[in-house]
Amino acid sequence: MAEKNLGAIECPFCRKNSFLMSKPKFDGFRKVGVMEFCSACGHEFLEGERPSLSQKKETLENLLGPSQKESLPRFLGKKEDLRFCMYCEEYVKHPFTQRCMKHRREVDATESCPDFHRKE
Ligand SMILES: [Zn+2]
Repeated sequence: MAEKNLGAIECPFCRKNSFLMSKPKFDGFRKVGVMEFCSACGHEFLEGERPSLSQKKETLENLLGPSQKESLPRFLGKKEDLRFCMYCEEYVKHPFTQRCMKHRREVDATESCPDFHRKE
């Protein structure tokens, strides 16, 4: 790939710690320059917009952080182990909202609840 990783930045557009990437810009088949963009949101930085590179030597590993890694298994667990509202008998999905019939309130599909009753 012709894409180059120029270094870590804090993107002023998506506010994420990401990388400043560059790739050649073509006009037809003629190379007319390079474009620099954010690896997270893909925003192209124009002349003068280019954020300064972060001094910290950050790896992708660091950017993901331990917190995100720990939260993963929760969602990768077996369906049977999950007590999410969406697997519950009392969960009803409406076009614009999701409700718990037992507690008569709006819920999230991935909420869990002490009164969980698995749907058959
Ligand atoms: Zn960005």
